[in-house]
Amino acid sequence: MLQDKEANAAELERTFIAIKPDGVQRGLIAEIISRFERKGFKLVGIKLVVPNKEFAQKHYDDLKERPFFNGLCDFLSSGPVVAMVWEGEGVIKYGRKLIGATDPQKSEPGTIRGDLAVVVGRNIIHGSDGPETAKDEISLWFEPSELVSYSSNAEKWIYGEN
Ligand code: GDP
Ligand code: MG
Repeated sequence: MLQDKEANAAELERTFIAIKPDGVQRGLIAEIISRFERKGFKLVGIKLVVPNKEFAQKHYDDLKERPFFNGLCDFLSSGPVVAMVWEGEGVIKYGRKLIGATDPQKSEPGTIRGDLAVVVGRNIIHGSDGPETAKDEISLWFEPSELVSYSSNAEKWIYGEN
């Protein structure tokens, strides 16, 4: 059935989300995960990692000319990061909405950064900004075998069956 195919394709949209060292140290792991979970997105990969500086530089490669790049990479590699892959219809774009603007001073209340962070250098969470970066970041942080495909009983209530 075409509808099923469309639904499956939509469910397979995936994004890379990371709780940065400040979010971990501040005890915000569960708070952040719950916002994605309650929305109806599905967690398909998760691990706690301390990236080294070289890895952080790879992750933020597109920002290498920016003046804050070195400090940013030092910070990302300063402690545990919760690396995750979330799946769901529209998860890349909507994930960014849940996260809020890069500068928490400009993030709306109700967003993760708006509610839980104050300055741009400590904005607690990362999320892929588009389909290409999502693909690249997922493959940088995860082996394919670390991602789990499964169906959840909630899906028929989240997406409907017809
Ligand atoms: P994001 O996609 O919303 O995370 O924003 P960017 O990709 O533009 O930047 C990556 C990260 O670099 C941000 O989340 C911030 O932690 C940091 N960053 C961005 N702009 C600035 C800035 O002007 N100053 C500092 N100190 N950090 C910044
Ligand atoms: Mg970005």
